[in-house]
Amino acid sequence: MQQEELRDSKDISDLSVMNFEISDEQRLVLKVVDEACKKIRPIEDKCYLEHKFNDKVLPIFKNAHLLGLPISGKYGEGQGADALTYALALERVGQEGTGVRTFFSGHTSLGQLTLQKWGSEEQKERYLPKTTTGEMIMAFGLTEPTAGSDPGSLKTNFEPRGNYFYLNGSKAWISNGSIADLIVVFAYPKGKTEGMCAFLVEKNSEGFEASPIKNKLGLPTSDTGLLYFSDCKVPKENMLGPIGKGLSVAYTALMSGRLSVAAGCVGVTQDCLNEAVRYAQERVQHKKKIGKHQLVQREIAKISVDLEASRLLTYRAALLKAKSDAKPNDSGLRNEADWIIAQAKYCAANVSFRSADRAVQVFGANGFSFENRPARHLVDTRVCRIYEGTDQILEQKIAVKLLGNEYEAFS
Ligand SMILES: Cc1cc2nc3c(=O)[nH]c(=O)nc-3n(C[C@H](O)[C@H](O)[C@H](O)COP(=O)(O)OP(=O)(O)OC[C@H]3O[C@@H](n4cnc5c(N)ncnc54)[C@H](O)[C@@H]3O)c2cc1C
Repeated sequence: MQQEELRDSKDISDLSVMNFEISDEQRLVLKVVDEACKKIRPIEDKCYLEHKFNDKVLPIFKNAHLLGLPISGKYGEGQGADALTYALALERVGQEGTGVRTFFSGHTSLGQLTLQKWGSEEQKERYLPKTTTGEMIMAFGLTEPTAGSDPGSLKTNFEPRGNYFYLNGSKAWISNGSIADLIVVFAYPKGKTEGMCAFLVEKNSEGFEASPIKNKLGLPTSDTGLLYFSDCKVPKENMLGPIGKGLSVAYTALMSGRLSVAAGCVGVTQDCLNEAVRYAQERVQHKKKIGKHQLVQREIAKISVDLEASRLLTYRAALLKAKSDAKPNDSGLRNEADWIIAQAKYCAANVSFRSADRAVQVFGANGFSFENRPARHLVDTRVCRIYEGTDQILEQKIAVKLLGNEYEAFS
């Protein structure tokens, strides 16, 4: 078969983006990320056990100049890293816990990258540099108390009056929500259920309030907020993207967001493997290291195989995203990247949850304690099967591409 025929064949994926060679430049970035992660670990350990927000994530990553990794060098401390480099960085961050990584998903993947893609030059110059230095933290507010998997049903609305838009409504479960300085917010024109728009809302806007959500199943060290808009006054120049294109803004943001979740989950799985191997080489039962019991070896082998598979899929998704980013007008490439990213997120999230469970099993009773990271991963990584598209939504998205649009469940 000719190369072109091979590519067109439905049974063979386009593997032309499968070169995973890590460049010297990428290694340098990863070294800086690794150093920052090593500083975070003891603090995250302490905060987790005290169920306390980790307020050192921001200064540590700010000092390492990592708050604008994939943002263009034109803006502040942006480093212009491509999607794979950024995914590799988040994989390393993910080893420190899903809470630490979720900060980056909210700030960078859903916030900064969305502003960079859809913002006017004036908006980007006004805000992006401050976000890369940590002077401004970003969040992404799509979900509402009554609108999650179906963002089309959101109730937050806006009304133009004079030089401002006035927003009314609320947003729930927003990562970085109560610590963010700048939030991408979605709303419909008042009285309408179409023509959704996106806005850049500053935290000190009149009519805006935010509070942290308590009693979460996991992620005690990272912020998840509730946002309230009561005639919240947003300058007209803060509409993000073209009028009526809010859903397109949201969907492209979710591509970056899902990739960040996938990468972070690969890091979680790596940490589960490291921890399971370490413990199996230390713990003795029946006069042997438990690693010598073959049924314990099976748990380790299964984590390892799942890790390698989810890592390869995630890197492939990242490379496709980089390719699509380089050709923003190629909708075919974007759809392909979107589909593979959905699969990577779905796979890596489930693998990390399953692997955390296996690592807990290897640890026995010690796995049942938050003193050990497998237990934290088990509860924290659970959210990765919910946010940025639940398992069910992604399963349908993945299948519909194969079955045809007439099988779309949501229409
Ligand atoms: C810690 C955390 C952080 C988050 N961060 C953010 C953030 O930064 N920004 C943001 O906007 N949102 C955020 N979210 C919200 C998250 O994206 C939503 O929770 C998610 O989209 C699911 O929506 P929902 O919770 O309303 O569930 P629902 O949509 O009510 O779904 C409930 C159940 O029904 C299923 N279901 C719904 N519709 C269908 C269907 N058509 N077919 C089959 N099954 C279906 C779902 O899969 C799920 O199992 C966060 C959530 C959490 C928990």
